[in-house]
Amino acid sequence: MNGTKKDIRKLSQADLEAYFTTIGEKSFRAKQVYEWLWKKNAHQFDDMTNISKNLREQLGEFFQIQPVEVDLLQKSSDGTIKNAVKLHDGNVVESVLIPTESRTTACISSQVGCSLDCTFCATAQLKRMRNLTAAEIVDQVVIIDEESKRFYNKPLSNIVFMGMGEPLLNYNEVIMAIHKITLPEGLGMSPRRITLSTSGIPKMIEKLADENLRINLAVSLHSAREEVRNVIMPFSKKFPLTDLLESLQYWYETTKTRVTFEYIVWGGVNDKKEDVDALVRFCKKIPSKVNIIEYNSIDDPKYKQASPEALEMYINGLESNNIVVNVRRSRGKDIDAACGQLANKTTS
Ligand code: SAH
Repeated sequence: MNGTKKDIRKLSQADLEAYFTTIGEKSFRAKQVYEWLWKKNAHQFDDMTNISKNLREQLGEFFQIQPVEVDLLQKSSDGTIKNAVKLHDGNVVESVLIPTESRTTACISSQVGCSLDCTFCATAQLKRMRNLTAAEIVDQVVIIDEESKRFYNKPLSNIVFMGMGEPLLNYNEVIMAIHKITLPEGLGMSPRRITLSTSGIPKMIEKLADENLRINLAVSLHSAREEVRNVIMPFSKKFPLTDLLESLQYWYETTKTRVTFEYIVWGGVNDKKEDVDALVRFCKKIPSKVNIIEYNSIDDPKYKQASPEALEMYINGLESNNIVVNVRRSRGKDIDAACGQLANKTTS
């Protein structure tokens, strides 16, 4: 029976209004139910106390709410928390809470697995099973907000789409989730505190720019040399760096927010002066900053963290050209919660 009921969180507020009108109810019920679903995160119709029992039952006959649940919570020695989040169909994704002095960040997934083939990323070794729905994305945020309050006495402050999956290849649901997270009739969080991270799909970056969402954009660049990037991120053969750059220039012109490049430096892969020079040239063409992220090993002998000297060369090269560069320390490595390590290890 459950399988035949429609997931009510697939309906927009306008859809709900239409539904209530057809069953002879006042259309303001739509707003009430919508708020229960998206602002108050109700998991069952009986939670909706300003709706009559009769109407709640009627809703329950036609619709279902399909909340996700935390299957396993792991806490790292540095305070990072990783959730294995079980979806209604048994699939599992992972999401991570990263606490610091000044903020707590939720790192959330947008797909079960990933269809891209970045050779250094554990998630790429899982096939893409399916896209998450907007509700499944928002549920991860709600769970991490609750955990942040429970464990760290403060609400979630930032959200990064840096978990499993490529958010721009689940475009519609990701955009809908961002709306639910930011709109006042949803969670009401500031879009400025959201960062969408993409491997770099130029057409979709342009489309995202046109949405006028006021979110931040990060691009996993890892090399500004076509021949190197094509090897470490084979899908990028379809998306030349010139196209990527053009899409980012469009992003900047449209949104006036600068892009962040995520960049890992590996020994013997991209640790030479010509790699630094290529990155500097690329960054000069677009207002941007660079986050150098630590490599988290996925046990592939081709990849190892570059030497401190190579990192120095990058930092000096960028800074001497007035490009802002941060070096990011990994968090949650002991529980495989760090970037690129999300691979459902505990469930396979
Ligand atoms: N598909 C999106 C979001 C998920 S990956 C993207 O590519 O941006 C989130 C970040 O983790 C990306 O910057 C990615 O390049 C990085 N990453 C992947 N594997 C990693 C690893 N083994 N160590 C460190 N970072 C990794």
